[in-house]
Amino acid sequence: MKVGFIGLGIMGSSMAYNIFKAGHELIVYNRTESKTKIFKDAGVPVAKTPKEVAEKSEVVIIMVTDAPDVESVLFGKDGVVFGAHKGLIVVDMSTNSPEYAEKFAKKLAEHDVEFLDAPVTGGDVGAREGKLTIMIGGKKEIFEKVKPVFESMGKMIIYAGTTGSGQKMKLVNQIAVALSDLAMIEAIELAKSFNLDIEQVYKVLSTGGARSFTIESYMPRLMRGDLEPGFKLSHLRKDIGYALNEAKKNGTPLFATSLIYQMLISTENLGYGEKGIQALIKLYEILSKAQSS
Ligand code: NAP
Repeated sequence: MKVGFIGLGIMGSSMAYNIFKAGHELIVYNRTESKTKIFKDAGVPVAKTPKEVAEKSEVVIIMVTDAPDVESVLFGKDGVVFGAHKGLIVVDMSTNSPEYAEKFAKKLAEHDVEFLDAPVTGGDVGAREGKLTIMIGGKKEIFEKVKPVFESMGKMIIYAGTTGSGQKMKLVNQIAVALSDLAMIEAIELAKSFNLDIEQVYKVLSTGGARSFTIESYMPRLMRGDLEPGFKLSHLRKDIGYALNEAKKNGTPLFATSLIYQMLISTENLGYGEKGIQALIKLYEILSKAQSS
């Protein structure tokens, strides 16, 4: 398939590269041009605008930050709709909300363009290794057309239902990610107060009943003092904000999710939004310092 890829950040660069490796015809675009270098070097055409990507593709994949960013890539100056043609399929793989997915699908349909929401989970490692779990909402027949492209980026491909269902599934997933981040950090804090050997704590947490992707992926980074993002803390705060908005609509009580939202926003306010989700530990470190001084 002729695939266009917009957004070559931590996730998008690896995902696009895996599409290229799988043998699809690829064209890429990134707002900051320097991130296109590895593609240029590999002989992949680099478009000047999202419009150009749409003109030259059958499927356009978007992997940017938040809903307003997807909106500007689609409908802003030189956006995807200005290069729209009959049969074009747009796939938003960023994490945002079911409400936005419905809005995007409706507006794109006015231009004869099909839409799928297809957020992912599996982190920077899953993206690099082509082992993402992908959750798709939209028309089943459109999903079937794009499936080979999804298979080049992921191992578990889930058709979740109508438009917005992919984002719903992802918000459910994000609650579990956020709370496992919190669980890992509180466990580490207690271990530190006991002066336990942190290597041994890791062995216990990563092999016993508490083991999780979060512990396996982020605890080693914390142990080497690495706060750089695999998954940015500000992005997790965005996702949890959407989950709470959706829960509000039907009165679903999410006690711990409300708490983690406040903790994430506080850590972001302390200047750690662009760091990884493991930087939540800074909130504890700063508060325990404040208590002891
Ligand atoms: P990232 O490294 O910050 O990359 C964001 C990308 O979006 C960059 O290419 C950026 O372009 C582009 N972008 C942002 N706003 C834009 C705009 N208004 N117009 C055009 N381009 C724009 O983020 P990421 O970690 O790859 O995450 C991307 C999405 O995947 C997010 O929705 C995130 O929540 C989700 N996600 C992330 C992970 C993870 O572990 N990292 C896992 C699952 C899902 P520039 O280079 O010009 O800034």
